[in-house]
Amino acid sequence: MEYSQQILSELKKKGIRPGDYVVVEKDVHTFSGLLMPKSQGDSNSLIVKLDNGYNTGINFDKNTKIKKGKGEQEKRPKAKIEKYKPDPTKPTIAILSTGGTVASRIDYSTGAVTPLETAEDIISAIPEIKNIANIRIRPVFQMASDDIESYHWMTLAKKIEDEIDSGVDGIIITHGTDTMHYTSAALSLMVQNSPIPILLVGSQRSSDRGSSDASMNLLCAAQFIANSDFSGVAICMHGSASDDFCYIHPGLHVRKMHTSRRDAFRSIDVLSYAKIDHKGAISFLRNDYSKKDKKRKPHIVDRYDNRVALVKIYPGFDYHILEFFEKAGYRGVILEGTGLGHAPISQTDDATKLHPKLLETIRRMIVGGIIIGMTSQCAYGKVNMNVYRPQRIMQEAGILPLYMTPETALVKMGWSLGHTKNSEDAKKILLTNVAGEILDRVDVQAYE
Ligand code: ASP
Repeated sequence: MEYSQQILSELKKKGIRPGDYVVVEKDVHTFSGLLMPKSQGDSNSLIVKLDNGYNTGINFDKNTKIKKGKGEQEKRPKAKIEKYKPDPTKPTIAILSTGGTVASRIDYSTGAVTPLETAEDIISAIPEIKNIANIRIRPVFQMASDDIESYHWMTLAKKIEDEIDSGVDGIIITHGTDTMHYTSAALSLMVQNSPIPILLVGSQRSSDRGSSDASMNLLCAAQFIANSDFSGVAICMHGSASDDFCYIHPGLHVRKMHTSRRDAFRSIDVLSYAKIDHKGAISFLRNDYSKKDKKRKPHIVDRYDNRVALVKIYPGFDYHILEFFEKAGYRGVILEGTGLGHAPISQTDDATKLHPKLLETIRRMIVGGIIIGMTSQCAYGKVNMNVYRPQRIMQEAGILPLYMTPETALVKMGWSLGHTKNSEDAKKILLTNVAGEILDRVDVQAYE
């Protein structure tokens, strides 16, 4: 997409091109930063990457003045790209890049954010990584994680299998943070019995910002792969608000808990596997993990049925919402209930007279072969549907209490249904602990 004719002619007049440092005056405000190329949104609004790293849109009208300026970012040298030579004494890590903030760098000559596509790109951005391992980079997708579909999980599972077959010592998947915990849950189920570590790594702040977490997260992941005996799928992200350590979170028990903090990810109801400090020292917090064994063959189960939904319960929940899924041919619904796993099914007065309709709808859906699971919208703790009478009624209707995060429950349901057209068989798979997703006990320390 291009800027509007009005903007283009003003830029031409002033000799300004995307990538130049500009100062824009608009009403009483002044904005300075890099003029970004136009890729989306209103063509009549200028996109400027401010010095703090955020992009801002400025609607261009007759009161808008733009001129070339001098800024901090302009003075930064372009990274020097050196030819990369692998060291045979070091382990090899394959980086499968999928996009997101972590896999990008800013090109100050054009102002564009470009993906890191070669080992040289990674090494020029994070030179220390070559002291830890040999790097192979395999661009798989270039997308924000918000757009990830089950197709992408299945593609990744196959790429992981190829890399394992080729003999790598570990895999890093660079991924946008927003849906990284769905992908980690999906890959934990799709890549069973992994002989090597498979770590998903993201970053909350882009690499052109001083406070970026991209390089530390990647370095911690590389250290952990090179210097530990861990195998399996996990997430490696900042463990605190400072640049002091990262956590290795279990792929099936982890969630993004903060929109912007670098330590946004938390292990849920279990302890993280390990901590890695900024110097690479590893301390395990648990020992019940599967150990690296390069002779082991992975078992790839890349199946998924997309006809599954995750639905949040709230005061005033309308039973028509569930009817929608029934009519649209969905095969499974995960409810994110309140508290221990509740939904409003009881009539107590006139204002609640439609509540029994919700129970009626649930019963009909289950009789019709739709699997309904109950999780909790409280981020921590297990559902318990044996405490209150309405919950027992829901269980009698066939709702299944699931001891997983809602995100993992959704993925497990889609994965289970992907195995078979028969709902009863899918239900058995859903309730079988395949990769440690069903928790029999909650570790209270995980909440502290
Ligand atoms: N929305 C972005 C994504 O998830 C944020 C990020 O890259 O972390 O891809």
